[in-house]
Amino acid sequence: MAYRPEPDRDSREWWERIARHEFAVQRCDTCGTARLPARAFCPDCRTEAWHWEEVEPEGAVESWIVNRRPFMPGAPEPYVVVMVRLAAVPGCVAYGNWCGGLPPEYGQRVRASYRRIDEWLTLVNWEPAGG
Ligand SMILES: [Zn+2]
Repeated sequence: MAYRPEPDRDSREWWERIARHEFAVQRCDTCGTARLPARAFCPDCRTEAWHWEEVEPEGAVESWIVNRRPFMPGAPEPYVVVMVRLAAVPGCVAYGNWCGGLPPEYGQRVRASYRRIDEWLTLVNWEPAGG
């Protein structure tokens, strides 16, 4: 049985934005630190005030795995999951399925693509940027 992400209090709007192809991070209203995934308060200054900020869905491949067990819906195994260091938010990494034709390379520039699973769930995938 595949795992299905469940939006919670903090992440619900993030998932709704992803469904609209908007890649957003949380920005602390006090110290300006950006964060992802969504959480209730700033990890740096613990302020609870924050806002969403849309950023370019781009980054660089930092690592990846080859998954041979079902995890997310809509991805027949084996498949590659990449960890991406976000360009707009160097302190944050994002994960997603790899959509390149060739295996990923360390440091490779990538861009998010959106995969609609159903009415309630859209997943972020990553593909080579500029190609
Ligand atoms: Zn802060």
